[in-house]
Amino acid sequence: MSDRIFLCSCQKCGTELEFTGSIEKFDEFMNSKTFTCAGGHREKRSPRVFLKVLKMSEPQLIVEWKPTEGRKYVDVLDYETIRINGMQMDHLGSGLYIDRRTRKKYDYEEDAKGNRHYFEIPV
Ligand SMILES: [Zn+2]
Repeated sequence: MSDRIFLCSCQKCGTELEFTGSIEKFDEFMNSKTFTCAGGHREKRSPRVFLKVLKMSEPQLIVEWKPTEGRKYVDVLDYETIRINGMQMDHLGSGLYIDRRTRKKYDYEEDAKGNRHYFEIPV
């Protein structure tokens, strides 16, 4: 997994909280039906209504990297790959990319040598 740290603040009470996990996990969390804030209130609405993302870190390094089964790895930084697939890559920040043509987003896992292994974020 390429875990990132998401720093959020609650718009209702101002409490800041950190979420550690992949972008998929963060999206899942943000789409939960209920939200229990570290500030002490419980809501019957999704965290998305209350939380504002202040900062997203770069993914944590994976010491013994190996491909994750089921992931679609695409070298989005490789000119040939982009050309052959007709991709229109755009940098979203923090190493995240989007293909403007297909709207697919790409995140990466970084190994101990600093190589970035880009993969398609499942929708
Ligand atoms: Zn709160």
